[in-house]
Amino acid sequence: LMQIYRPLNFIGFVYREIRQGLTDIEEMFKLLDRAPEIQDKPGAKPLSVTGPVVKFDDVKFHYDADRPILKGISFEVPAGKTIAVVGPSGAGKSTISRLLYRFYDVIEGKITIDGQDLRDVTQESLRAAIGMVPQDTVLFNDTIAYNIRYGRPGATDEEVRKAAELAQIGHFIESLPKGYDTPVGERGLKLSGGEKQRVAIARTILKGPPILILDEATSALDSKTEEDIKSALDVVSANRTTLVIAHRLSTVVNADEIIVLRDGQIAERGTHHRLLVKQGLYAQMWNRQREASEAEERMQRVANDP
Ligand code: ADP
Ligand code: MG
Repeated sequence: LMQIYRPLNFIGFVYREIRQGLTDIEEMFKLLDRAPEIQDKPGAKPLSVTGPVVKFDDVKFHYDADRPILKGISFEVPAGKTIAVVGPSGAGKSTISRLLYRFYDVIEGKITIDGQDLRDVTQESLRAAIGMVPQDTVLFNDTIAYNIRYGRPGATDEEVRKAAELAQIGHFIESLPKGYDTPVGERGLKLSGGEKQRVAIARTILKGPPILILDEATSALDSKTEEDIKSALDVVSANRTTLVIAHRLSTVVNADEIIVLRDGQIAERGTHHRLLVKQGLYAQMWNRQREASEAEERMQRVANDP
């Protein structure tokens, strides 16, 4: 009987491995949120990164032809600098990051990296050059270590640990009974939005790409988590060409330029200081967020002091 059982058991094992593999592939597509219709052009060349300088040149885009989303956006992220995009929800901020990662092609205008149109380079080389920390990170059904190491599969345990520490998540991982071997994802430990994002940041630190896209979480984070994420992002974006999409304005104060997007158009642009002086949309958003966080602090003081 054992002789029959063993191969069956083996088949069961292989089947489970394949199932697991398929789930991971599905999740990878979810993770990459990838539009399958984007194809490499015949003869597409690998992206050659020198700066890298990212440039949006009069970019127009829509998902549905009857509803324009970006109505002619131009800006440049100089090599090693940080440009922030802020604005009300639905303004088209995440769309800008999806276009740079080339989930979609622009309808008009162009996006270039070091002068090369994204449509002329291979997707593989483009994505190798960009680290993306999305708004909602989907984790693989595997260990935390696996999820971090995905950024650079050859990384040592020590490098994985270092990246986790820099991303302000190392302490949390070490507090778990199984530490880095803790299974996460839908079939493992459920992490909060802020924790998942820090795993994604650790993964990106490990990848060490020349270009970064950070789409901050919208979900209300407490101020401690916000501070942790902010310092993690500062580490990863230092000296990298960075496009940060910020919902919390406190994270963009030091950006080299802030672009205020409204209804698919650039409503205002400038440094934090100049935009405050201008007393426009940015100044309004800033004051509103400051009032909200002051109210939160008052609530917390009341809660802590019965
Ligand atoms: P933001 O990040 O500024 O909140 P998004 O760039 O995500 O805004 O979305 C801009 C607009 O495009 C929104 O009105 C949104 O509903 C719409 N949108 C986003 N993704 C899609 C999609 N895949 N198909 C159709 N409409 C979309
Ligand atoms: Mg968004």
